[in-house]
Amino acid sequence: MKADSKIKSFFYPSSICVAGASSKEKSIGYEILRSIKEFGYTGKLFPVNPNSGSILGSKCFKTIEDIHEKIDLAIIVVPKTFAEDSVDSILKKGTKAIVLITAGFKETGSEGAVLENKILQKVNAAGARLVGPNCMGLINTLDEIKLNATFVAEKPAVGRTAFFSQSGAIGAAVLNSLRDTDIRFAHFISAGNKADISEIDILEFWQTDENISVMTFYLESFENGESFINKFIQGDITKPVIILKAGRSEEGIKAASSHTGALGSSDRVVNAALDQFGIIRAESLNELFNTSKGFENFALPKGSRIAVVTNAGGPAILAIDSIVKEKLTPAKLSIFTKKKLREIVRAEGSVENPVDLLPGGTPEQFKAVNEIAAADENVDAVISIFVEPVMVPAFDVIENINSIKSEKPIYQVVMPLPEFWEKYRRDSKYKIPLFRNPEEPAKVISNILFFEKRKVKRNYFQPGNSKIKSTDFITESSKRTDTGFIGHKILERITKVYNLPMIQSDFIPLEEITKTSLKINFPVVLKGISKKVIHKSELDAVKVNIKNKEELLLAAGSIKNNFEKNNIELEGFLIQPFIKPKHELLIGGFRDKSFGPMIMFGGGGKYVEVYDDTCLKSACLCDDDIEEMIKKTKIGKILEGVRGEKPADMEKIKNVIRSSAQMMLDNPDIKEFDFNPLIVCVDDSISIVDARIKLVP
Ligand code: ADP
Ligand code: MG
Repeated sequence: MKADSKIKSFFYPSSICVAGASSKEKSIGYEILRSIKEFGYTGKLFPVNPNSGSILGSKCFKTIEDIHEKIDLAIIVVPKTFAEDSVDSILKKGTKAIVLITAGFKETGSEGAVLENKILQKVNAAGARLVGPNCMGLINTLDEIKLNATFVAEKPAVGRTAFFSQSGAIGAAVLNSLRDTDIRFAHFISAGNKADISEIDILEFWQTDENISVMTFYLESFENGESFINKFIQGDITKPVIILKAGRSEEGIKAASSHTGALGSSDRVVNAALDQFGIIRAESLNELFNTSKGFENFALPKGSRIAVVTNAGGPAILAIDSIVKEKLTPAKLSIFTKKKLREIVRAEGSVENPVDLLPGGTPEQFKAVNEIAAADENVDAVISIFVEPVMVPAFDVIENINSIKSEKPIYQVVMPLPEFWEKYRRDSKYKIPLFRNPEEPAKVISNILFFEKRKVKRNYFQPGNSKIKSTDFITESSKRTDTGFIGHKILERITKVYNLPMIQSDFIPLEEITKTSLKINFPVVLKGISKKVIHKSELDAVKVNIKNKEELLLAAGSIKNNFEKNNIELEGFLIQPFIKPKHELLIGGFRDKSFGPMIMFGGGGKYVEVYDDTCLKSACLCDDDIEEMIKKTKIGKILEGVRGEKPADMEKIKNVIRSSAQMMLDNPDIKEFDFNPLIVCVDDSISIVDARIKLVP
């Protein structure tokens, strides 16, 4: 993979101009110049303002044209009405990287959107790239650059984490909190309206930048979820990526006409896609940066067995609870470890996990106990908790533990007096990040283990050629039923080419049902069919286990009645063999507007929405994903056999999931499909007895 080399100019410019620099304190044009100067930018700086001779000791240029040197990066803070002119001048100068901080574009309505688009087209035509508009700038803390082109005056410390924020306010809030949170950055970028540069460009760039080891994102939308996850599918992204995605409460897909669509809210799609490709989804800013610190500043845990060391009972219980909640394991300390601990821990203290030194625990004891715990072969990571009592100084305890050399991570939770933090920041030799709450490290560990587990290279299914000609779809879609679903014939064809186990169905026109010459192998199921009806059961139009002609005619009469009562035209009947269901499954899929083809597996039947026992994934599956989809659902566990029951023929079921996913990947014309139910019988045979496929309009 090759990132756009122009993106590099945003973070590593040798020269920058600030168009709209101002001498008015507190104005953005002033504050941004001040941030740049105070942070100590190492390159050349050209402020531009038609009316000022100099600002903050820098010579001001009246126009961009007056600058006779090369400009790598232009930062534009002029009022909206001058934005287009400024962009014109900068492009004429040959600058390829522009940050448009000015607001008042797409975010304000259609007029703003038009102007934004106009500017974007000019930038595109010139082969340049644009960050923003409506953003708060960017930062590179690295010594060679030292650029703080934001209007937040805080001075971020150098780290190996990079942070992308779609919201300027969230970006500012994080920067404002740096002294408290000890977050260290290499790069920060506020993306604003993402007119041109989006999370995808930055993801690619940071992957190639060796100064970055962890990427963090605050997103409100995915510009193109499918391309984003594609980078992971192709194996291009190998660094940890942590995303805080806002907008969880977004409604489900509106007016979904299939079960699968109704169950696939956009937030579920985001969750599914991120989870599948090893992208960590954080639930809060705190978790986002705690996790990045976990990657950046600690050895990586190799397993899930956690020892807790403490001087107080309560916080240790909370820590153990969080370990269990995160599906980690409280470590079982070896007899040897416990013996060694006993030499240090007083008789009233505990040498079981959590190891409790009691409030009297000294800095030396804390160090020794942490060392012993970390050395135990049954331990993968240690959480050390220190609540400051009057007699033991927090700083000494924390530094003593920091000095331990271990291949395993030791996460320290400290609950000290307020003075501690300043002293730690000033005097600590190690400056290893600390946690403030006993529940935090477990989440960090589970996020890291998730990433490590997903990191292995996997073979995802790739789209192939459509097995059904697009023209067939088109002819068929012109005949499409009112509900948008394709007709019976083509449905049979497509399910056949994908080897999907469709039950034999015969269509009987309305008037022929009474013919005595009908040859039927009872028992059968009779279904009333109409263009207008999606869920037949709702009209009581599915009659099962019909044993003879008499019952068949009764059933047909009853279905006819139900349709008449509801004023819906009945077009005919489907007759299928009745098979005795042991389990009813759902396999469905839909094309998400951002993340593309998705696949769902779970419990099926009439009550799918009520039980919602389903697992959703991108259709770019690998075999492990299919395994996981089954394992994650309750019906999957039942299929594997409970209470001595014989397991179902899982290979057959996996094949249906596999082929359905392939069908979705191969045929962009398919918008949605539902196989509900796929019936699993006692004799292990499986049949799809009800299928719907909907085409893209
Ligand atoms: P709907 O349009 O309401 O989804 P279905 O065709 O899925 O109609 O049938 C509803 C229910 O009837 C199924 O969930 C299943 O329990 C039962 N059923 C349908 N077809 C058969 C069949 N061929 N054999 C046995 N049971 C069936
Ligand atoms: Mg059904």
